[in-house]
Amino acid sequence: MNTYAPLEITFTRGEGAILYDKHNQPYLDALSGIAVCGLGHAHPAITETICSQAGQLIHTSNLYRIEKQELLADKLAQISSLDRVFFANSGAEANEAAIKLARLYGHAQGINKPTIIVMDKSFHGRTMATLSATGNRKVQAGFEPLVQGFVRAPYDDIAAIKNISDNHSNIVAVMVEPVQGEGGVNIPDESYLNQLRTLCDNKGWLLILDEIQTGMGRTGKWFAFQHNNIQPDIMTLAKALGNGLPIGACLTNEKTSALIKPGNHGSTFGGNPLACAVACSVIDTMEEQQLIDHATRLGRYFLAQFSKQLGNVESVRAIRGKGLMIGIELNQPCTELVKAAADRQLLINVTAGNVIRLLPPLIFTQQQADQVINTVCELIQIKLHQAAA
Ligand SMILES: *Cc1c(COP(=O)(O)O)cnc(C)c1O
Repeated sequence: MNTYAPLEITFTRGEGAILYDKHNQPYLDALSGIAVCGLGHAHPAITETICSQAGQLIHTSNLYRIEKQELLADKLAQISSLDRVFFANSGAEANEAAIKLARLYGHAQGINKPTIIVMDKSFHGRTMATLSATGNRKVQAGFEPLVQGFVRAPYDDIAAIKNISDNHSNIVAVMVEPVQGEGGVNIPDESYLNQLRTLCDNKGWLLILDEIQTGMGRTGKWFAFQHNNIQPDIMTLAKALGNGLPIGACLTNEKTSALIKPGNHGSTFGGNPLACAVACSVIDTMEEQQLIDHATRLGRYFLAQFSKQLGNVESVRAIRGKGLMIGIELNQPCTELVKAAADRQLLINVTAGNVIRLLPPLIFTQQQADQVINTVCELIQIKLHQAAA
């Protein structure tokens, strides 16, 4: 169906941070398939895991115990300190599980219409519940009636949430991205998550973090909440968890895990041996290659260089970043830069209309970073000169 408007480029293979098109032209990938291929393309450890697991066992269903699923659950519990996991196949599905858990939690307290506070400019997925939770009319338009049980607040605004809590008695949870990805790489105040945590504790609400884009090392920690020394009650993952093999996860603690019983939720494919073996291998490889510290260092380098080259450019409104999640906001629409960059064999993204978004693989080298910085700065300068002329 006509769901995307793809560029006229077809990639046939990849190696690390480089993709090759069908004419064997190399492209530097600073987007990683939208924050998915954190280890880059065709990483030997991942290829090896896929091949060996496929030769053993791909799927049995959750009607039997699955060794690789249990192993992955243990690894995720260890790095997140959340102790229960439900496995799905995508981000939207992981968020569906989170929303269902929050509703169960509300009903267990006698709240008949449990309501979740969600944010402006948020993105949580394309299924009916997750598009209803999403703070972008374009995602919702034409698909009404929306799913009920959400109330919206501005992002990074604790006072607004307190205000909602004074006027609603059905709130059971706050659902938020630690850094908004699709919404424009929006980074909240340093204390925002801490204040949300405190508020949720005081009110008896669940704190649900959508770390589908920020998780798995992207921001320079395994999970973005670890910058704040807090724990969420529920966290969702997908994107980079399988380095391209579809897998999602909804993690939680004892506040909600006891509420779910056999028959309440499920998935045919979710948690299959192949996807779980690959995700285990992703975690192991990230640890072996110390990619999270690398993401922190390289992210700082990106920000420093962009600030140096663009800091005084009037039309550049902001340069934002956390680890290797980087946004450059212009004061004008700039979606055409995606194609302009591709014409120079560089893959970038523009989100929210005027924010250049970079999500390079965590294996990116400083030399590759320099290449991205030079090309992006040049494209911005050319654009602004043309606009001025
Ligand atoms: C990509 C994304 C989703 C949706 O994930 P899908 O796998 O496309 O369903 C949800 N939340 C956030 C923050 C995302 O970045």
